[in-house]
Amino acid sequence: MKSIILMGECMVELRRDGHDEIVQSFAGDVYNAGVYLKRCNPEIQVQLATQIGTDTLSEQMLTVFTDEGISGDLVLQTPHRLPGLYWVNTDSEGERSFLYWRENAAARWQVEHYNDEYIAQLKQVDIFFFSGISLAILQPEHRQRFWEVLRELKAAGVTIAFDPNYRPKLWASVADTKTQYDMAFSLCDIALPGVEDFAMLYDLTDFAAVEAFLAPYNIAEQVIKDGPNGVVVLLDAKRTFIPITAVKNVIDTTSAGDSFNGVYLGSRMNGESIDVAVAKAAKMAGKVIQYPGAIIPKSI
Ligand code: ADP
Repeated sequence: MKSIILMGECMVELRRDGHDEIVQSFAGDVYNAGVYLKRCNPEIQVQLATQIGTDTLSEQMLTVFTDEGISGDLVLQTPHRLPGLYWVNTDSEGERSFLYWRENAAARWQVEHYNDEYIAQLKQVDIFFFSGISLAILQPEHRQRFWEVLRELKAAGVTIAFDPNYRPKLWASVADTKTQYDMAFSLCDIALPGVEDFAMLYDLTDFAAVEAFLAPYNIAEQVIKDGPNGVVVLLDAKRTFIPITAVKNVIDTTSAGDSFNGVYLGSRMNGESIDVAVAKAAKMAGKVIQYPGAIIPKSI
């Protein structure tokens, strides 16, 4: 059975629905990717590597993981901390903004609990996926350990996949981000960046510039996304541009990149070509952005 670990943070999400009622759900970039990967590829084993608490919301989160077919075997639980939380604010124009309470989220201390047994489990999968958000939330003093473990996984034959998913507010400085991303690009076998990440961080605003930046890292599979402007895939030094059909009725782009990543990786794990993988991923992302929230109902 093919297997993937998605490492990072899942949070409690609160927002008002169309009837002005507060709705509570769970979301977070790597979790979102895992949900869509599993929904499209039920035969792949999907595991979330994170840390939550032992409180009611954490327990509900675990139940939701299970409902989505995501294994909680690598979900660490500590009684001392709670999961992170965010509030989605929608203004009168429909513009969304986010307020976060995640400074003390349990996920930030997950690396502290990496022991031999846990690492042995991490080594057993085909792909280990993490993002710039996963990196940003780690305690700075745990980063070295994280990179050591990642090197161990790579040496054990695990494919490392990385999406920079840059969120400036989560980082102490731009220099810090660049140092950490340099490590991530150096180690990963699959990179799934958005041009927007590069525009914000490196002032590189188109495919050619991003490709030139990534070239020295010799990443085997590069999947560069740019919203409706298409996707460039570089696989074993062959470049393919795949156009995207723009969605007219965009409601909420939250999770566009996450759903794309999950479905793309799942498809590739099943041995499908990059064209098929991008088509499936773009179809799902195109659907996700026509509905509010990160996780759309299963029935859609
Ligand atoms: P990221 O969040 O990683 O920057 P993008 O914004 O590039 O991701 O979007 C990821 C994917 O979502 C795109 O590759 C595309 O398939 C889909 N997507 C995003 N915006 C649109 C849109 N307006 N119309 C159609 N598809 C879109």
